[in-house]
Amino acid sequence: MTTDLDGCISKAARILRESRYVISLIGAGISAESGIPTFRGPDGLWTRLGEPSNNQYQHFLEDPKAWWRQRMSAQASGGNSHWDNAKPNPAHYALAELERIGAMRHVITQNIDNLHQVAGTRGISEFHGNRFKMRCIGCNRRWDRAELELTAEAPPECPDCHGIVKSDTVMFGEPIPPDAISRSFEEAEKADCCLVIGTSAVVYPAANVPLIVRRNGGRLIEVNPLETPLSDVCAVVLRGPAGEVMPAVVEALRRQGNETAATAG
Ligand code: NAD
Ligand code: ZN
Repeated sequence: MTTDLDGCISKAARILRESRYVISLIGAGISAESGIPTFRGPDGLWTRLGEPSNNQYQHFLEDPKAWWRQRMSAQASGGNSHWDNAKPNPAHYALAELERIGAMRHVITQNIDNLHQVAGTRGISEFHGNRFKMRCIGCNRRWDRAELELTAEAPPECPDCHGIVKSDTVMFGEPIPPDAISRSFEEAEKADCCLVIGTSAVVYPAANVPLIVRRNGGRLIEVNPLETPLSDVCAVVLRGPAGEVMPAVVEALRRQGNETAATAG
C-alpha cells in the first residue's frame, strides 16, 4: 500500500472516531476477494456478457410453477460452485469487528451472499434479499430455506396468507422488499457517516443511502479500487481492495485509540 493510502486510512479512522452514528452501504465488490465475481466493472459478468433482461419477475408471476420446476432441476444438476463455496474475506470480518467495538451500527448490503452474517455482523438490511432464504410475495414473511419442505413440482404456499413463496433473492423487475427499504432509510437519517464499500453507487434506491447521509451534513468514506459517481463528494476515498483496506482501517482505529489513551494517561 502506498504512503498516500496510509494517510487516507488514518484520516478515515479519525472520521470514524469523530462520528456519532456510522452505517455502511455495501456492494458486490466486497465479495470479489471471496471469489464471487461482480456484475459491473472491467471483469464484471455483465461487462462481458451484457445486462440481463429486466422482466425476470414478470416471467415468474406469469407461471410460477414453470419457473420453480426449471430452477429446481437446475439446482439438482449441480449448484453454482463459486457462490456455494465462498467464505467471508478480511473486509467482512473487519466490518463485523467495527460493529462489535461500537464504531459502526448498521450494514445495508446489496449482496445476497450471506457472507456478512457468517463473519458475525448482526445489524443488517438486505436490499436484494438473501440466497439462503425464502420469502412470501404476499405478506413478506421469510424462512431459512432449510425450514421449508421444497418439492420439485411447485413453489411452497405461505401458511399465513396462502401467497406464493419464492427465493428471497430479488429478481430483475421485482420491487425491493419494503422492510429493507424503510429500515435502510431510517438508518440513513440517523447517520452522520457512511462507509461506501465495493459499490458503483449507481443503482437506486440503494444509492440514495449515502446521498441522504450527505444531505444531513454527514461524511462519506469510499472504499473502491475504481472511481464512482460518489468519489467527488466523499470526505476521503480509499483506493484499494476492501480485503486489504478494511482491516487496515480497523488497525488504524485501534492505534489512534491507544495513542489517545497514552496521552490521557
Ligand atoms: P456494483 O454496481 O455495486 O459494482 C461493483 C463495485 O465493486 C465496482 O464499483 C467495483 O469497482 C468495486 N470493486 C471491485 N473489486 C473490489 C474490491 N476488491 N474491493 C472493493 N471494491 C471493489 O455491483 P454489481 O457487481 O454491478 O452488482 C449489481 C447487483 O447485483 C449488486 O448490487 C448485488 O445485488 C448483485 N450482486 C451480488 C453479489 C453478491 O451477493 N456477492 C455479486 C454480484 C452481484
Ligand atoms: Zn404470506
